[in-house]
Amino acid sequence: MNKDWDGKRYHTLNYFLRNKFGCKIFKISLDAGFTCPNRDGKISTEGCIFCGPRGSGDFAGTAYGLAEQFHEVRNMMNKKWKTGKYIAYFQAFTNTYADVETLRKKYYSILGMEDVVGIAIATRPDCLPEDVLELLEEINNKTYMWIELGLQTVHERTAKIINRGYGLDAYIASVSELKKRNIEIVTHGILGLPGEDKGEMLQTVDFIANTGTQGIKLHLLHLLKGTKLEEMYRHGEFQLMSMEDYVATVVDCIERIPGDMIIHRITGDGPRDTMIGPMWSLKKFEVINAIDHLMMDRDTWQGKKYVGKSKKYVP
Ligand code: SF4
Repeated sequence: MNKDWDGKRYHTLNYFLRNKFGCKIFKISLDAGFTCPNRDGKISTEGCIFCGPRGSGDFAGTAYGLAEQFHEVRNMMNKKWKTGKYIAYFQAFTNTYADVETLRKKYYSILGMEDVVGIAIATRPDCLPEDVLELLEEINNKTYMWIELGLQTVHERTAKIINRGYGLDAYIASVSELKKRNIEIVTHGILGLPGEDKGEMLQTVDFIANTGTQGIKLHLLHLLKGTKLEEMYRHGEFQLMSMEDYVATVVDCIERIPGDMIIHRITGDGPRDTMIGPMWSLKKFEVINAIDHLMMDRDTWQGKKYVGKSKKYVP
């Protein structure tokens, strides 16, 4: 059993990409100008209760066109890092929610840029119709690609509370369609959702660990100004996680994730201007250090408590 990924006790995206490409790889977050069916009225006008005005793309470039955004971020990175290659990350809103020709133009416009070695596309499981799947398969055969699916929770009760707007069956079906086409998948889970205890959070991670997706992103629930979540918080309907709780929960999650699954994220710093809490999460490196230290104290590593497919969590 692997217990060490270049000095880390878990299988980081950095480790994976450096081994795959032989150099430092940067992700460049983009806002391609899409919207989301959970916000434009097709499913709902409310959106997921935690979603801010930038559709979970708070760190995407701010210039207008995709090429300008790409160059803006790349130029910033070049000041610090002289070498490296790039993965274009379609992050904001739902990045497969348009007609297939529009999608084709946007994806290929970025793939043609110098030093772009791959593409990552964040979307919803209910926004992958057949023609879009065909386009994704075509691109997957030409370059390195992964698709990110925002599952957030395995529990249907919580999915209703957060107004996710699709059922678990949609996630399962889209994973199956993407896998049929050999497309890599990264599943997002959120820790600290209203009404969930630690046992339920771990059930979500156990479920993701056995879906056969290549990667996982663990998010801390961020409370942003102007969201439905803010209202619920003001009414005392849930509490934000403390750093101590979060760190211990993340380490419990990491222990249950199989060693070959790539961990794309274990924390994140929210948008400082609209964030209400938890403010400790803005010190991202302190959180990561605390996770590393707790893993050392427990002498634990990714996969140590992986239950295996035979005992997978089924809701
Ligand atoms: S699916 Fe994404 S963009 Fe759409 S409302 Fe939910 S978090 Fe926001």
